[in-house]
Amino acid sequence: MVNKLIVAAALFLFGMGVTPGFAPQAVTPPPPAEQVVSISPALGIPVLLYHHLLPAEENPYPENGAILPVESFVQQMQLLHKHSYHTLSLAELELYLQGEYDPPERSVVITFDDGYQSNYIYAYPILKKYGFRATVFVITDLVPVHTQPFQPTVLTYMSWEEMEQARDVFEFGSHTCALHALDAQGESLLLSQPEAVVQEDLLASAAILDTPYFAYPFGRHNKTVRAMLPELGYRLAFATHPELARPGADPYQLGRYTILPDLDREGFCQIIGLTDEEGQ
Ligand SMILES: [Zn+2]
Repeated sequence: MVNKLIVAAALFLFGMGVTPGFAPQAVTPPPPAEQVVSISPALGIPVLLYHHLLPAEENPYPENGAILPVESFVQQMQLLHKHSYHTLSLAELELYLQGEYDPPERSVVITFDDGYQSNYIYAYPILKKYGFRATVFVITDLVPVHTQPFQPTVLTYMSWEEMEQARDVFEFGSHTCALHALDAQGESLLLSQPEAVVQEDLLASAAILDTPYFAYPFGRHNKTVRAMLPELGYRLAFATHPELARPGADPYQLGRYTILPDLDREGFCQIIGLTDEEGQ
């Protein structure tokens, strides 16, 4: 983790200042932890990745790592709110990556992949309550024309109508029209389909959603697709490797932190750069 690296680096530098021959107890104590472990925009911005959400008691698949208990999501948003975090839009993130925007000291980006209806039912009201923003990467072919009745046992997607109603909180990026699947060899269709098919799909989803932002299905990408994206008008693309977004990073290989059900409070605090004391 970055936090641990910073602490390790701080301790290493500190150790270098010790005069040879001094007894260890003579060493000046290190500075208070909170001075060295907070992530600042100078180091990078954490981009959080969520998928499906269900209240713990309604979850028919508690073993499924892609379903986060709503209770955990609420706690995480409360923590961000309590510590005055600012949620960046992707336009702000883009400017920051270009060195043209200086975000508030505590900033995060919240994203959801796939466009599940649970994001509208459960995440939207909480985000709205705290004045937060988030981006949902939508698989446009799966968006239902008519709003579906929500049932925890059925995987349903946000409708166009729900997306429109949630625009005060959500912005929508592309997760392809129809390439969010694996082929018989287990490869992502985005990487295995002919280039013309991929281009047509990506152009269509960008046009439907009017977005220059993309998230790779399953986080998988290759040189061919990365080279294609700028030509099709995309300006940022997100993968799923855990890495802070920072100026100078490749805008087509941005990392994100997947928030899994087994992530505890301490782990979440590490991702957002809060010390243990602050996270209490
Ligand atoms: Zn996905």
